[in-house]
Amino acid sequence: MKKNRVLFAGLFAASVLVSGFTVPLLRPEPTKKAVAAAATNLTMYWIDTEGGAATLIITPAGESVLIDTGNPGGRDSERIYQVARQVAGLKQIDHLLTTHWHIDHFGGAAELAAKMPIVEVIDKGIPANLSEDKNFAQNIQPYKDMTVKKRSLIKPNGTIQLQKLAKGLPNLSIRFVGVDKQFVAVAKNSKATDGCESATDKAPDTSDNANSTVLVMDYGPFRFFDGGDLTWNIEKNLVCPTNLVGTVDVYQVNHHGLDQSNNPVLVKSLAPTVSIMNNGTRKGCGPETVKTLRNTPSIQAAYQLHKNIRQDSEYNTQEGYIANLEENCKANFVKLTVAPDGKKYTVSIPATKHEKTFTTKTVH
Ligand SMILES: [Zn+2]
Repeated sequence: MKKNRVLFAGLFAASVLVSGFTVPLLRPEPTKKAVAAAATNLTMYWIDTEGGAATLIITPAGESVLIDTGNPGGRDSERIYQVARQVAGLKQIDHLLTTHWHIDHFGGAAELAAKMPIVEVIDKGIPANLSEDKNFAQNIQPYKDMTVKKRSLIKPNGTIQLQKLAKGLPNLSIRFVGVDKQFVAVAKNSKATDGCESATDKAPDTSDNANSTVLVMDYGPFRFFDGGDLTWNIEKNLVCPTNLVGTVDVYQVNHHGLDQSNNPVLVKSLAPTVSIMNNGTRKGCGPETVKTLRNTPSIQAAYQLHKNIRQDSEYNTQEGYIANLEENCKANFVKLTVAPDGKKYTVSIPATKHEKTFTTKTVH
């Protein structure tokens, strides 16, 4: 008996060490009232998966949409679970969207499904194999096997089926601009883009990054863009010769800020007010990307999940806009809250007490 107890305590300590919690383990369950209060805003979380992706959206109806699930191995799924369950008070993930078939985007899905129910999984259809990942068939098996209520396929111009919001709130939609290099216009008037002729191409990308799902979320006047890991030449197709997307308020920096992505013609055409980069300590936050963000006049604040601690550390945003400064980080997240009327939004890093409010664009 005693021996068992020691073993159990050891396992417990090990699991705490491995998962790197951001919130105390024994935090009390959120009360119903607190959850209801939180659900009157539209809230988003960029969860730290060390250079993978995991973006959580909670609608004013309390419905949840998770875009990507980081890497396998326990760490990322636990971080997502902690934010979803303990911080946001969710009991389930209503919709999980996987943007493309790289393991830093789908790797935590099956582990998360074992921790909390996932109702609907939406993706672009699982391929039999992937040229850039020899172990794809093996890597994707848990995702294929996980228990979910419903599986849906992404279609260009399709939407995520969301519950109606309370009367008086603006319209909310999450639309797919496209997938597998096929795009549709979601902008009200697709305008000709300046700078298409001078935009240069890079070597063609034959990986699944180029096939990433691109989505736009509109909440009243507020607009958010997530292009997964879309790469340079295909990014240009989104805005050249005409801008299919329009402008946005918040741009999730494509592909963790890697320089194979974030074509200046895309970033300048989207003209975001805020950029949020899900980079790692050594992944993403590329020099060209950082320069592009600095040279985009519309950007008032550029957030990063991590400080770039490579040799080229001059390529970073200001420290106050970085969620995690140290290599052995506490997995701090970036949070965004959109006001009920959609006209203002606040970006915060709760762990550092950073908070900044922005005015939503009136014309997209
Ligand atoms: Zn990625």
